Amino acid sequence: MFFRVMDKARIADLVRGLSTEYEVIGPVAKGERFTFSVIEDPADLRLDFDTTILPPKKFFFPPEERMMRFRVADNEVVDDEAFASPRVLFGLHPCDINALLLMDNVFLGEFEDPYYKAYRDATLLVGVSCSPRETCFCNAWDTDEVHWGFDIFLTDLGDRYFVSVRSVMGAELLDRHVETSPITAEDTAEFQAVVREFKRAFPAKLDTSQLPLLLDAKFDDPVWDELGERCLSCGACSMVCPTCYCFDVRDDLDPDQRSGERKRVWDSCQFSEFSAVAHGQTFRESRASRVKYRYYHKQWGYLSKFERVLCVGCGRCTHACLADISPREVVTALVEGSEAR
Ligand code: SF4
Ligand code: SF4
Repeated sequence: MFFRVMDKARIADLVRGLSTEYEVIGPVAKGERFTFSVIEDPADLRLDFDTTILPPKKFFFPPEERMMRFRVADNEVVDDEAFASPRVLFGLHPCDINALLLMDNVFLGEFEDPYYKAYRDATLLVGVSCSPRETCFCNAWDTDEVHWGFDIFLTDLGDRYFVSVRSVMGAELLDRHVETSPITAEDTAEFQAVVREFKRAFPAKLDTSQLPLLLDAKFDDPVWDELGERCLSCGACSMVCPTCYCFDVRDDLDPDQRSGERKRVWDSCQFSEFSAVAHGQTFRESRASRVKYRYYHKQWGYLSKFERVLCVGCGRCTHACLADISPREVVTALVEGSEAR
């Protein structure tokens, strides 16, 4: 990794330059909130965004993905190519870059997913520093920092960015499209001060130290029933989550019934049909069991396989949940042995 500094005013040059080679996607305003979208005009890019409604996972694992076309008569697959055009995803916060690294374990691990891989290979990542909101708890999982998994990372120093360059592609893009300068001792000192201030700005740190042990011990805790009473099974928490990756596969026939396409669509473990099997049996019929399952998968099952929890503390689920269920409350209830709220 090496470092440069760049005037903030030059962001537009960088985005314009990148747009000559890539599709550039970044945060833009949507009403009072923000969303990742294709940047047509650099002035639309809002690097001061707090978070986006949906995470960047939608560009690697779209809500609906056509996997293949098929012909029924001869049982033939006619088109199953995974393709993605080159693009730059601009303005990812550390939590969202860390979330992609967690998704990589799933989609690029033991069973490589060609669709996810095509998107991942075609995409360069430019990260940007952020300020914690009251619902952020990324610091509890050490996902408030990111040291790899990006090409360029911009830390806001007020009038300029401290630019961390992680990849050869990132260095080449900077060289081609924007003027930067070598860092000075003053830049480094300011960078350190900004990082210190960022760490101080978090709300009280969530105590997760005993979590796997507590989950082992509290499988039958009343807290799960209490959460199940409140949960609406709407699935919003998993849809907005940058690390939830469950999906369903559907075959849609064309009107002529001779051909069709197979699609992969987002699914949620909070839906009762999610764990339904033949003969109408459902493994997790109660809402309590489904809420519990989501926490056990994220904070126990994934951890036991990949030594990381499947949560980056972005707080999106907290904002999305109409029943006011949040990981912060659930973890606190388990740790303190109290009611969830
Ligand atoms: S569980 Fe909630 S806080 Fe954790 S990564 Fe998913 S949306 Fe973010
Ligand atoms: S968003 Fe809240 S109410 Fe909806 S499924 Fe998730 S926990 Fe339940």
